[in-house]
Amino acid sequence: MHEFNFKNRRLYCEGVEVEELAEKYGTPLYVYSYHTLIDHFLKLQNAFLTVSPLICYSVKANSNLAILKSLVDKGAGLDIVSGGELKRALKVGCPGKKIVYASVGKTDKEIEEAIKAGILLFNVESEPELANINRIAAKLRKKVKVALRINPDVEPKTHKFITTGKLTNKFGIDFKAAEKILYSRSNFPSVIISGLHLHIGSQITESSPYMAAFSKISFFIRKLKNSGINLEYLNIGGGLGIVYNNETPQTAQLYAKKVLPILKETGLKIIMEPGRFIIGNAGILVVKVLYNKDNPLKKFIIVDGGMNDLIRPALYDAYHNIVPVKQSGRKSQVTSRKCDVVGPICESGDFFAKGRVLPQVKEGEYLAVMSAGAYGFSMSSNYNSRRRAAEVMVVKDKVFLVRKREEYEDLYRNEIVPA
Ligand code: PLP
Repeated sequence: MHEFNFKNRRLYCEGVEVEELAEKYGTPLYVYSYHTLIDHFLKLQNAFLTVSPLICYSVKANSNLAILKSLVDKGAGLDIVSGGELKRALKVGCPGKKIVYASVGKTDKEIEEAIKAGILLFNVESEPELANINRIAAKLRKKVKVALRINPDVEPKTHKFITTGKLTNKFGIDFKAAEKILYSRSNFPSVIISGLHLHIGSQITESSPYMAAFSKISFFIRKLKNSGINLEYLNIGGGLGIVYNNETPQTAQLYAKKVLPILKETGLKIIMEPGRFIIGNAGILVVKVLYNKDNPLKKFIIVDGGMNDLIRPALYDAYHNIVPVKQSGRKSQVTSRKCDVVGPICESGDFFAKGRVLPQVKEGEYLAVMSAGAYGFSMSSNYNSRRRAAEVMVVKDKVFLVRKREEYEDLYRNEIVPA
């Protein structure tokens, strides 16, 4: 599944010892495995080979330029959600024709820039947005391709904060409204509605929610075809779950086996937007133990990384496996204790694990927070005026610093104290 393995009781990323990285680059430190990243991309590509999909990696999962460039060089497109992500995509040389753009709140400026960049498709999330894209395209004297993002109203069986395909969510357009838009498409002469898009949620471990959503959309496509409306693309979104703890998510092969018959039936070109599946298990967060602190009720391991570095546990109560990067084998470490792994931030929500049985670790030792590649650094912040972490990418026995740790000056670079 990934290239973070123990050799002689020491955690390695590919051919490099994680402790060495922590010593050299400091902590908290994000460490990415290049080969895991590429392997996950290729797994998906191979599983769907018979329909040659355009795989647009979802930039929001981890937007580091080195990660984007690695994937783009292997033929990936990119799924973006903002003007900033567009800039990143262009910066790494992603061709406009491999960029798709979702988001319920695209601004005029963002729309204009994306049109000028010649992106493949806007994933349109409402009728007012469609009218706006039409207006801006007309102003630029362009004809712009869009896909309507459908909200299929299915239950993805995941955390409520990462559910996106229910009508209680703000995303997409319901089938009835989409049909109305398609029948009145002549009102939008500067756009070509050439596809449908859906993304029902994230960390989905079973194929049944996908089957339900894709069956609904396939039926809709057939209905449109019978009324003379022919489309070119079907974008099936992302959402594939990964192993954080003891989940048994569908593999790329199994997912493909289940959904390909439905997708092939549509006859449309397939686009997909995986994020977590590609980068989730290709990254870890390394933190240093600052203090062991016990009170009559609890044992705490206080580390130098916090919710500003990795917010998933605080935000979603998400589980991340935590391991000492060096299994010393000494007796004290072998003794396990039930403890909370917490950060230095002034919030009780600042934790990486609660009630977790962990080997006893000493101050100054390092812990690896596993499966932190997706929605880790990209959701990090400067809360408590903490500098954002450094990021390194390991390629076999080579290490590349792909983001420097922020300096204190970076914290207030853009601030102005009025005279
Ligand atoms: N596509 C869209 C529209 C999304 O909103 C997201 C995540 O929120 C993704 C793709 C990527 O999802 P995941 O990382 O679960 O594959």
